Amino acid sequence: MAPEHEPLIAGVELGGTKCVCILARGPSAIEDEVRLPTTKPDETLAAIEAVLDGWSGFVGIGIASFGPVSIDAHSPDWGHIAVTTKPGWSGADVAGRLGKRYGLPVGFHTDVVGAALAEARWGAARGLADMAYVTVGTGVGAGLIAGGRPVDGLTHGEYGHLRPVRLAGDDWIGACPFHGACVEGLAAGPAIAARAGRPGDEVPHDDPIWDGVAHALAQLAHALVLTGVPRRIVWGGGVMGDGHLLPRMRTLLRASLGGYLPFPEIVDGETFLVPAALGARAGPLGAIVLGGQALLPASFTPR
Ligand code: ZN
Repeated sequence: MAPEHEPLIAGVELGGTKCVCILARGPSAIEDEVRLPTTKPDETLAAIEAVLDGWSGFVGIGIASFGPVSIDAHSPDWGHIAVTTKPGWSGADVAGRLGKRYGLPVGFHTDVVGAALAEARWGAARGLADMAYVTVGTGVGAGLIAGGRPVDGLTHGEYGHLRPVRLAGDDWIGACPFHGACVEGLAAGPAIAARAGRPGDEVPHDDPIWDGVAHALAQLAHALVLTGVPRRIVWGGGVMGDGHLLPRMRTLLRASLGGYLPFPEIVDGETFLVPAALGARAGPLGAIVLGGQALLPASFTPR
């Protein structure tokens, strides 16, 4: 659909340190974009409302939030932030509050699922109803989309905390406070910095540290392939940087799968594990897709 025929949505990417409010019909039709710091819930939500109060004409609202979040539509907690270490935010009602204030349909999910939906609608997995998006930055998160919908259960998936098979000879304890050497504990930015003693962007590409990072991420890809069976996996976040990890990950994934699922879409390498296309815009645009799905489920759900 041409951008002018898409509905106008107010989107909020609620991040751990900042929020992005965006009024848009899509990436080529952004009418306004406002950044705010994330502070206490009441203060932050009031600042978001002040931005939205100044906009007119939007017909749906989407919120792509830091997790964990309550996404069970049958629960009174739907639309709330779940138990979090972020001070003051445990149990904060986000989606219900905005929905009541504006009387509009509200879509609500994690930031990584929002980014996955945005990459599926406008980015590196355009038009694919079965895909995954993985962000590797201060944490590792994945949005797994099957049949155009996020793979949710009682709550959203936490694929970044899968425990990978370890690279032979690597027994570093890992940096996740819950699991030690889970994927996030091995491959997120803080884990790389803890191991290297300096930020990852100062670690040369031939340093053996990257072997362990690429291996952990390929193991995550292995798990995503065998569960949701995505047609493409899109990789974003600061650690993916200039893309030096992707060629190694492709080789490691093929070796790890050992001939299982020999579909050309999966084994033909360069079109299966691909870099993200939307960059930092994936988060706010994800909120637009979530709002669109709440308003017009059929036209915003890839098939
Ligand atoms: Zn973990």
